[in-house]
Amino acid sequence: MVDTLSKTARSERMSRVQGKNTQVEHAARSLVHGLGYRYALHAKDLPGKPDMVFRSRRKVIFIHGCFWHRHRRCKLARLPKSRLTFWLPKLEGNRQRDKRVQRGLTKMRWRYLVIWECQLSDPARLLDKVKAFLDKED
Ligand SMILES: [Zn+2]
Repeated sequence: MVDTLSKTARSERMSRVQGKNTQVEHAARSLVHGLGYRYALHAKDLPGKPDMVFRSRRKVIFIHGCFWHRHRRCKLARLPKSRLTFWLPKLEGNRQRDKRVQRGLTKMRWRYLVIWECQLSDPARLLDKVKAFLDKED
């Protein structure tokens, strides 16, 4: 049974979530940019096209919206009460893909850090974390 109305509602919700993701990415990027490290954006040669690539350090940063990437124990990741059958497989799929990507990077001996949307509420703490990640030598 195809319900066209709910289809429209779904795609509207989807595009809102994606728009939010873009905002989160911009906010996180401009924060990290302020630290002064050199990086590239969305390297296509690496698994998962990481959002920020620090090539000489062999490190990447992913910026993840909490809902879209199912941040565990995060209130921003709470699922909508309706349409669980639609959202759950989709969002679970995202999380599985994230895991695959992260395993792939580790195999290639790249380090990764995930910046979560909710961490933007405490920029000082987030920046400490990012600095520690980027400065760490191993
Ligand atoms: Zn979160």
